[in-house]
Amino acid sequence: MSKTMNEFLSACPVVDVHEHHMPEVAHSRDVNLLKLFQQSYAAWTSNVLPSEPKATGDMLSTPTEPTTWEALVPFLERSGSNAFVRNLAGGIAELYGITDTGITRDNWEAVDASVRLRHTEATWPGEVIARAAIERIVTDPFLDPLMDPRPRLGQNYDAVLRINAFALGWHGESRDHNGNCAHALLRRLGMEVKTFDDYCDAIRALVGSCARRNHVALKNALAYDRDLSFDEPNEELARQAWGQRSPSPAARKAFCDFIVDLFCQLAGEADLPVQTHLGTAIISGSHPLRMTGLIERHPRTRFLLMHLAYPWSRDLLGMAFVYRNVWLDLCWSLLLSPSHFKLALHEAIEVLPDETRMMIGGDCLHVEETFAAIKGGRRLIGEVLNEKVASGYFRFRDAERLAIRILSENAKEFFRLS
Ligand SMILES: [Zn+2]
Repeated sequence: MSKTMNEFLSACPVVDVHEHHMPEVAHSRDVNLLKLFQQSYAAWTSNVLPSEPKATGDMLSTPTEPTTWEALVPFLERSGSNAFVRNLAGGIAELYGITDTGITRDNWEAVDASVRLRHTEATWPGEVIARAAIERIVTDPFLDPLMDPRPRLGQNYDAVLRINAFALGWHGESRDHNGNCAHALLRRLGMEVKTFDDYCDAIRALVGSCARRNHVALKNALAYDRDLSFDEPNEELARQAWGQRSPSPAARKAFCDFIVDLFCQLAGEADLPVQTHLGTAIISGSHPLRMTGLIERHPRTRFLLMHLAYPWSRDLLGMAFVYRNVWLDLCWSLLLSPSHFKLALHEAIEVLPDETRMMIGGDCLHVEETFAAIKGGRRLIGEVLNEKVASGYFRFRDAERLAIRILSENAKEFFRLS
């Protein structure tokens, strides 16, 4: 990358549109080197089936075990080629001053001691975020979908309202894949629902109260609970699921489709975007084209579609070309595959109808991984823009204007951040 492009990108502040920063994790005082890997995407290298018990819940509830070299080897060596591991190991090396060697058999104990020490300091997460030149963060605190992020994480935070539990709330005890229960959450807001109609009113009140909790968007992560084919609402069938502990598969799907449709309608009326996870997750059902019905039924709702729908980024770009109510959150795609990210970003620049469509995030639990993700994002975007300038596609000033838009301006406009 040319020095000037590199310097320009490094100096641009970032508005980070997606993290999973939560006080219990990102601000925990009990973090060591091993835990940084265990509570990162590096741990997803041992993921197999969605039905298997290892999901995020387990990652977060594991007690801190002492770091040993033997415990680090599965990450650093057995999965050492994986991009998640490369990203996190590189970020730790830079933040803890070992860029020459990285984490080795000879220095891991000293690095572990530094990680434990820094995490006892309340100021550490903020220092790392400042070093990454991130000025605002939109977090998805899935351990508590109702959390107001400002008192817990700081004034530079906003949050999204994750809708999964509510879309699956046909029974008083039904839960989403994170273990969240809609009825328990609504009770915290003083809403006791008895009927299907009460429940729909509660959803309306929930969306209506987003601003009070500094919730700037809704988040649909249902790709981890079901497929993304959200059909036309069928109220009669949806009502059949109400109050059933185990509704029929058809009634369960209809209930979820109906509630998701209601959320999208309310989001359009309230001018709240709907951030939506696409690709991977339950991979048999997470293709982006499954979302077309929902997007077409809600032309006034702004959909922020995530992760370049990996591995179906070209299909997603086709959708972003056709639909004017679609924006792209590039987060995570650059961690999954930096090479594919560059290829897809080249095409996205050419295909998207205007310069307002792309935003960037890290999608991480700990600030070290966020630091590495945003730094990596800056580098990759810089490389692509440089290649575009070198090939004569556009001029340096066009590249600069687009960089500022992707790194911060689009997010400020899109989420109406003051
Ligand atoms: Zn995420």
